[in-house]
Amino acid sequence: MSRTGPSRRQPLLQTGRRPTASSRPRGPLQKSALWIELTRQRALLLVSLSASLTANGEPDVCSDLADQASAEFEQDLAMQVKTRTFDKLRRIERALQLMRTSSYGRCRRCHEDILYERLKVQPDALFCVRCLTVVEQGAATN
Ligand SMILES: [Zn+2]
Repeated sequence: MSRTGPSRRQPLLQTGRRPTASSRPRGPLQKSALWIELTRQRALLLVSLSASLTANGEPDVCSDLADQASAEFEQDLAMQVKTRTFDKLRRIERALQLMRTSSYGRCRRCHEDILYERLKVQPDALFCVRCLTVVEQGAATN
């Protein structure tokens, strides 16, 4: 007697599924993903930095005062961008350095692990979200 029983359920393929990252401790895979992200960001920064360095040749000599003012403004702006890029680069270098030790991803203030979700967005983060708020408030009142 052959009856068509309940169709055998196929085991669901788990390939597309990912465990929620924030609920589990950081694993070596997450760490290497962050490493890749950091080195990628560093490469991008270096490219933009070298581009801005080569683009900034001799400043044009402007006879017109207004032109000169705007040229100076543009130089200021370029300088600010460069400073920010350097700053970011330094933070990334520091994060990469920290990764060689075990203190990477730990909040500088409360020493708790920073959530992976946050590190994914900002791999060079030094503080957890809670402490960052406190630190930023402190900086604002200074
Ligand atoms: Zn913290």
